[in-house]
Amino acid sequence: MNPDWATERKRMVDQQLRGRGIADERVLAAMLEIPREEFVPLESRVLSYADDPVPIGFGQTISQPYMTALMAESLKLKGTETILDVGAGSGYGAAVLGVLGARVISIELVEGLAQFARRNLQRTGRTGNVTVIVGDGSVGYAESAPYDAISVGAAAPETPAKLIDQLRDSGRLVIPVGTRKDQSLMVITKKKGGTNSRTVTQCRFVPLRGAGGWR
Ligand code: SAH
Repeated sequence: MNPDWATERKRMVDQQLRGRGIADERVLAAMLEIPREEFVPLESRVLSYADDPVPIGFGQTISQPYMTALMAESLKLKGTETILDVGAGSGYGAAVLGVLGARVISIELVEGLAQFARRNLQRTGRTGNVTVIVGDGSVGYAESAPYDAISVGAAAPETPAKLIDQLRDSGRLVIPVGTRKDQSLMVITKKKGGTNSRTVTQCRFVPLRGAGGWR
């Protein structure tokens, strides 16, 4: 018998998110709206609402629900934003950002994962404002810049300069920065050409590859 996904989703939002301090009601509502089980490979579906990252193939994972929520919350989205999501993976994070902003461009390096993300977004009816592109997102995606917000779901050795360049003034970038094994989740705000940054938490993400990541 299939688990009752709606009940599991509600429990995830209450225990893993609200219970750990995620307070933005729009973020909580978005995580309640998107069916995470539709973004997890069939063989791992029972793990859809686990408090962990879940493998999605190609050595990659769909981020832990709490991380997706924390990253979305730190972007302080109102609903009008153009957002760049780096590392589409399953498409789940992009779907959540699609509920919170106006338009999402999600860029993925691995062709097979871009296809997986597109299929998942299509099946869940999210392609109206979420587009998946294949490419190296460590240098951003200049074609749709500037962005009000950029979310990077893979860890970089340092903040890629091109991502800052492609942010609009007062735009925000959330990105894990550090070593391959542990990182700080940083929120960087662009202000009149300069930047302010703060650390949200310690974390461990898969490595960002490409020109602005680890080669
Ligand atoms: N946000 C995703 C999970 C991201 S996992 C989700 O919700 O499912 C990190 C992803 O970043 C992986 O799919 C990996 O292939 C991708 N990635 C790594 N380096 C990249 C790069 N330079 N450009 C685009 N995607 C990259």
